[in-house]
Amino acid sequence: MTLSVLGSIQTEVVAKSRGVERLVTGTATSDGAGVKLTRVLTQSLQRRLDPFLMLDAFGTDKAEDYIGGFPDHPHRGFETVTYMLAGRMRHRDSAGNEGLLQNGGVQWMTAGRGVIHSELPEQEDGRMEGFQLWLNLAAQDKMTAPWYRDIQSADVPEFTTDDGVTVRVIAGASHGVSGAIQRDKTQPLYLDLHFDEGASFAQVIPAGHNAFIYVYRGALQVGGTGVARQRMAILANDTNSDGVVLHADEPTRAILIAGQPLNEPIAQHGPFVMNTHEEIFQAVQDFQAGRFATAVN
Ligand code: FE
Repeated sequence: MTLSVLGSIQTEVVAKSRGVERLVTGTATSDGAGVKLTRVLTQSLQRRLDPFLMLDAFGTDKAEDYIGGFPDHPHRGFETVTYMLAGRMRHRDSAGNEGLLQNGGVQWMTAGRGVIHSELPEQEDGRMEGFQLWLNLAAQDKMTAPWYRDIQSADVPEFTTDDGVTVRVIAGASHGVSGAIQRDKTQPLYLDLHFDEGASFAQVIPAGHNAFIYVYRGALQVGGTGVARQRMAILANDTNSDGVVLHADEPTRAILIAGQPLNEPIAQHGPFVMNTHEEIFQAVQDFQAGRFATAVN
C-alpha cells in the first residue's frame, strides 16, 4: 500500500527552467567488502554540489557483486541516505539501532559525532539496486548525537501528476506534498520520479540551491539537452531560473536532488567529513581509541 496524498497536490509552475551545466559519467569502483558500485558524485564535485558529498549507484543481478556487503565501519560529521530500489539489506550500529532496508525503503542516518555500523545483504541471490547519498552537516551540527530512521516504502509520500509522473518524496516537498524527512540548514530535496512515455514534470528549486539529476532508466530532456541512462546532469544555477522542467520521451526513472549549500570548508578522510584537518585527526584518534562505540551509549 502506498501513502495516498491525492487531492492535496498543488501543481508547480516553473517560468524559467534551469539548463544542464555538465553531464557526468560515474566511475566504477568497489567499497566495503568488494561491493561493486558506480560513484556518480565524486570528491571533485563536493564544492560544486555542496551540501552533497557523495552519490553511489549500485545495481546488479550478480550476488558476487554485493554479497560481502559493508562490514563494521565508522562515520562522523554528515548524514547517509540509502534508498533501496530492490533488495534487502540489514543495518546495525553502535547506537543500538537495527533495521531491515528493503524494496522502496529509505534509511536516513545522521552519523553526527560518530557511529560504527554494518550494512549487510540479507539475500543470497536476486537483484540489489539503489543509491547511497552523503549529505553534509553544518559545522555546528557535526558533533551532534547520532540519529537514525528507517522509512518503509509504504511510508514514503507518493503522488501521480495528471501528466503521468509518479513522484516519491523522500525529502523536502514537491507539489505541496511534504517528504519523509526535512532538514532546516541544508533543505534537501530528494525525489524519485517515474515518467510515463511523453510525460513532463516541473519542480520549483530556489536559484541558490545546488541541484542534479541521475537517470537510471530511459532518458530525459532538460531544456535542449538529452540526459541518457546512467548519467548525472548538474543543473545550472541560473539566478533567473525558478526551477527545472524535465521531459521523458520514453518510460523513464530518475532521481532529482537539490539542497542549500553550507559554504563551509570541507575536510574529508574516508568516512570522516569535518571542516579542518585537526578535526579529521581528532576523528581518527577517537575512532582508534574506541570512543565512537562508547560515545553513543
Ligand atoms: Fe556506512
